[in-house]
Amino acid sequence: MRYLSGVASASTPGQNSKPAHSNPKQQQRNQPASGSRSELPAFVDWPAFPFEGDMRLKSLQDPVSAEPPRRGARQEQCTACHTPDSAYLWSNERWRLKSPPAPSGLPVVVILEPRAHLDLGDLSTMHAAELGVLTVRLERAIRSLESVAQVHVNRWGDGTAHLQQWFLARPHGFLQLRGPFMTMWDEILPPVEEHEWQMNLEYIAAWLADD
Ligand SMILES: [Zn+2]
Repeated sequence: MRYLSGVASASTPGQNSKPAHSNPKQQQRNQPASGSRSELPAFVDWPAFPFEGDMRLKSLQDPVSAEPPRRGARQEQCTACHTPDSAYLWSNERWRLKSPPAPSGLPVVVILEPRAHLDLGDLSTMHAAELGVLTVRLERAIRSLESVAQVHVNRWGDGTAHLQQWFLARPHGFLQLRGPFMTMWDEILPPVEEHEWQMNLEYIAAWLADD
């Protein structure tokens, strides 16, 4: 996922991060298991795993003593809070829906955000109830597209402080994209046609607007 990759890399601790401690057990944990293929996790042989050939595990970096601030940790620097409704596909009093700026490998990728500067655990009971209703409506809207078989719903929370709930559509018939590796396939597959992408987004926005 091109757009998501940026989010993920932005939240990766930098090279200069100081290790929290250096006890021997931790050091052992940080070592790759081995260069041998037999030491790799079983999922590298799953049909959905997008890579094959020689692989080895990266060393796990030492944990940092303090987590770095997420983007928008200070509301005055939050991109979502300073983006007008015109940049969104749909909005109402408390929620807004947007897409990444360009088509990617999946027929639909959309992101639901609260209008207020809130993370998942900050939501009021009313916000939480609305999130549940909107999640179901969006899943139904996206899955009703002829080209879509399933909809993955994800909230990672590592990159941004302002809640983002992702909806990722698996194209119909592409069984190899089932499961957690679909975000990788989104970046690997050629982008869907711009016209199809726009039509899909307009369809979903119209579905939400039709109360
Ligand atoms: Zn915000």
